[in-house]
Amino acid sequence: MELSAREYTVLAAAAGFCSVAGVGYLIQREYRRWRVLSAHMAQYYADFSLSPSQLMDLRNDFIEEARKGLRGEKSTCLMAPTMVDILPDGDEVGEYFALDIGGTNFRVIHVTLSMDKGEVVHVEMEDNAIPEEYFTCHGDMLFDLLASALVDFAKRHGRHSDDRPLPIGFCFSFPCTHTAIGEAVMVKLTKKFENEGMVGQDPAKGLQRALDRQKGNFKVAALINDSVGTLAGGCYVDADTKIGVILGTGTNACYAEQRSNIAALAKGRKNGREQQHPLMAINTEWGNFAAPSSPFTDIDRELDEETPNAGSHRFEKMVSGMYLGELARRAILRLAEQAQLFGPEVPPQLREPWALTSAALSKIDEDGSWLLSTTARELSETLGLPAALCTHTTCLRVKQVCHLVARRSAAVVAACLAGLLQQIDRDGAHTPMAPTTIAVDGGLFEHYQAYRAYLREYLDQMLGKQVSSLVKIVQIRDASSMGAAYLAAAIDEETQ
Ligand code: ADP
Ligand code: MG
Repeated sequence: MELSAREYTVLAAAAGFCSVAGVGYLIQREYRRWRVLSAHMAQYYADFSLSPSQLMDLRNDFIEEARKGLRGEKSTCLMAPTMVDILPDGDEVGEYFALDIGGTNFRVIHVTLSMDKGEVVHVEMEDNAIPEEYFTCHGDMLFDLLASALVDFAKRHGRHSDDRPLPIGFCFSFPCTHTAIGEAVMVKLTKKFENEGMVGQDPAKGLQRALDRQKGNFKVAALINDSVGTLAGGCYVDADTKIGVILGTGTNACYAEQRSNIAALAKGRKNGREQQHPLMAINTEWGNFAAPSSPFTDIDRELDEETPNAGSHRFEKMVSGMYLGELARRAILRLAEQAQLFGPEVPPQLREPWALTSAALSKIDEDGSWLLSTTARELSETLGLPAALCTHTTCLRVKQVCHLVARRSAAVVAACLAGLLQQIDRDGAHTPMAPTTIAVDGGLFEHYQAYRAYLREYLDQMLGKQVSSLVKIVQIRDASSMGAAYLAAAIDEETQ
């Protein structure tokens, strides 16, 4: 078919119009998508970034909750007295053992403490998996497992059975009510454990009986949890340590408090240690902290509702390694659903709960690579997203979300630390302020460098540079087991 010149001109004009209109439509669509995405991101920035005054409010609310807990009033912070009123100071000398049972493994440890202050000559540790049947067996059988591992380990490390009973530290990270430094009543079993004969009993006695059955010449001297271990571990290497913090799968903090501020002790029987040991380690259980100023967003509420312990541990759910990746995944999913972050389709992998780990989140946040190739790789490796969806702009948004979630975690931790520092008069209000060390253990803090920098930055902001320069934040590796061994040494030194 031949076209006349006139028809050809009309057709060409129509085609030109259509392509201009098409391009215009595409530009308009992308512009609209960009505007919606930007509005969502602006909302995230508003929700997850905390102003100095919000942080001060949070700090004040935390102090109030902590004081209520200390007075024995209803509080979201348990503030449990640990009965640990003696802490190592680095002068302990000798060889000590400890046992540490957490989630899926238990550890036996042997330390040789040097004459030089705070020096450890030698450490040996053995991690053992807990066989499946020990999660449901009778408690005595579980203690037999721990005791025989310790006795066997000690034999291999030259500990002779004809020596006097050697005090050991026992780090037992389950809820307990402590009645003395090496004595407690177990409140409940957690994690995978369902053993009979444990709840309502004293785990230190249970282990002691098992050690006696194995003819192990040990005395369970201290029963602690991982946050107390971190405090004790910090005290051994740095006598200025006043606070121990766990930033790993979960979070918790422990600090040295004046006995006179702990109402529960006033009710209990006196044991004659009060004069000599005016301080006691308090287990804050801050993972459960909640207050009107807690920066809880819709995303936090959504995550909380889908956890088995909905309504509790809401601070932990904003802070710890178990949750940071999941919070970021939910925020990214919202961007995908409501602002087409990955285009018109939502990648189904993004809907998989817990698919984004905190380790992946930290790699994305710390991504300094050209064109964010690390972020693109994490998205395709951990979330299984097709590479074509991981464009530079998409990666940039994902990185911003991870950054916001991590910074908020560090900000709220810094606010509570500032609260604890005030509680122990180490916030600069009393001058001159003594140097103070905060000991930290846990994978989130250990493996996520940028997180450590955020925490420092927020603490500087809250305390002011001058006061903050007197506050050190140090990492204590293997704190729960090392701390238990140091504590056994401190108790031994005192009783010798
Ligand atoms: P636990 O808390 O169970 O005793 P850890 O202290 O080793 O164990 O902490 C492990 C947790 O630390 C992991 O569950 C994870 O949430 C977090 N984590 C590990 N590596 C990283 C990392 N590179 N970046 C951020 N978080 C991490
Ligand atoms: Mg741990």
